[in-house]
Amino acid sequence: MFRLDLPTPKGSIPPRTLGRDDEDVDMRVVVSRVMPFALFLAPWIAPGAEVRIASDFPGGNIVIERIEGDDVFVHQDLRDTKGDWFYWYFAVRGAQGRELTFHFTRSRAIGPLGPGVSRDGGRSWAWLGRRGSPTSFTCGFGSDDTEVRFSFGMPYQHADLMRFLERHAKKPCLKREVLGKTRKGRPVDLLRIGRPGARAKHKVLVTARHHACEMMASYVAEGLIDAFLEDSETGRWLREHVDCAVVPMVDLDGVEDGDQGKNRQPHDHKADYRGTSIYPEVAALRKFLAEWAGGRPDVDIDLHNPGINHDRIYTHALRAAVGEGPESRAPERKFLETLEAVQRGPMKFRLQDSVDFAARMAAKSKTAEGEGATPGDKVPGTMAGSRDGEVNAGFEIPYALVGDVPVTPDSARAFGHDIARALVVSANGILGDLPEAGASALHPSPTGQAEEIAVSHPTATRRERFALPKAGHTARVIIE
Ligand SMILES: [Zn+2]
Repeated sequence: MFRLDLPTPKGSIPPRTLGRDDEDVDMRVVVSRVMPFALFLAPWIAPGAEVRIASDFPGGNIVIERIEGDDVFVHQDLRDTKGDWFYWYFAVRGAQGRELTFHFTRSRAIGPLGPGVSRDGGRSWAWLGRRGSPTSFTCGFGSDDTEVRFSFGMPYQHADLMRFLERHAKKPCLKREVLGKTRKGRPVDLLRIGRPGARAKHKVLVTARHHACEMMASYVAEGLIDAFLEDSETGRWLREHVDCAVVPMVDLDGVEDGDQGKNRQPHDHKADYRGTSIYPEVAALRKFLAEWAGGRPDVDIDLHNPGINHDRIYTHALRAAVGEGPESRAPERKFLETLEAVQRGPMKFRLQDSVDFAARMAAKSKTAEGEGATPGDKVPGTMAGSRDGEVNAGFEIPYALVGDVPVTPDSARAFGHDIARALVVSANGILGDLPEAGASALHPSPTGQAEEIAVSHPTATRRERFALPKAGHTARVIIE
């Protein structure tokens, strides 16, 4: 079971709203809003010290309240967020040899593994360590730590995406296009992978960062893209049979400006698929979808991160519309069963977590949990209208822990690989009518001629044996 409750910790101030017109907005916040990339460090230099707190870089987000000796008092900048959220990202400069404690004064903003920490300008990240408090953390600074960055998670900015794409620049099956421009004029990336056009058997849409702050989803997207491009049976099959479109940063303005994005007012990007879209990038995506796939791709994978303490991967895909039974989600269920069966990475997806989540949501006509429903959705929690695919899988991947397994760039990428592997196997009906090409995605065991895959399924007991395309290799699928 995963936790959905968010109790207010002792000693912290309950969540509150800080809107644009909030009378509590002070001048420093206004300055940070007007000049998000300006250097505005001087007011926060502690007396007698050189410690500076900055957010003058892409993704930066912090409001400094005061520095008292070795204690720094801050809170996340909510900007246009409805209610509370927990994203922040700042740099500490000039703290060499010091030990500082950072206090978040408004609400809980530290995940279960503490903050992400980077000592190379945000290029690589590690968790600082298990948190002692959801509202504060302490860090010692070495003699070389001229700048250390901290964040709620492990920020992934547009520059990271560019570095990733640079590594694949020579792959002819990957093309970078422009989906459209944001309100601020930034070009939104649209990646085309595999076999575009009518010859492809399957159209797969992958999106991330509808909610700007959900950066760990970007590492999953990297893994998924990697799987398409790698020299493996999985990669070759995907490139041959799938026309894949990826929009890795839907709310690019929010990503680069360091917004929460989640629950943005009047509604956020995920909720912008009803009626006329108010965000140009969503409007552009809907237009692209209509032209590319008649508004309905075969598989629609939207990557998210959930609430602050969730520790299970789950999906909204099994949430049936009002009046529908669970059978209405049969294509999704098959896909997710496949994912559970073929996954290899350390972060485990368990179908039951999503079944439980769907049941919990069904029990509530209105929800305020996690990536909740919006009234008027045909299917709560999934993209409405033109975003509906044949298989709709919106994944929530925890920021920091899946069970006891840490979420890191590598483990998140491995989950992306697992999703790709599930695409191959489910597209070929391995768990149904089975066939040859899909079996090639299952690597024979090194010792024998068979590989066994166990699938937990509450209602089915079935054993199947099928031939792998390589002579003499067989595999068994056991559903039990
Ligand atoms: Zn989200």
